[in-house]
Amino acid sequence: MARSNRPKRSKGNHEHEELNLDRVRSGVKRTEIKRGVAYVVQASTGRNAEEDKTWVCPHCNLSISIGLSHLVVWDEIRGLDTRRHFHTTCWAKFQGSLL
Ligand SMILES: [Zn+2]
Repeated sequence: MARSNRPKRSKGNHEHEELNLDRVRSGVKRTEIKRGVAYVVQASTGRNAEEDKTWVCPHCNLSISIGLSHLVVWDEIRGLDTRRHFHTTCWAKFQGSLL
């Protein structure tokens, strides 16, 4: 008996699609210099994982509600440990340094 059903192989395209989706979901990164310090600035939709978590903006000390578009910023040199969430407008005004 000949087998008529060959196992279907995925072409591997799915992997690329997921990668692209991931990149869109995690937002576009850019680098900004403030007072000679380079910061990585990434847009967030506020809808990422960690849904129980609320963030406090270090500029205005108000929390950023879930689902609100905001910015995630960290010191390019010191890395992700310095990461903080800012309201978009607060980051524009922020001139201090991250802790
Ligand atoms: Zn703020």
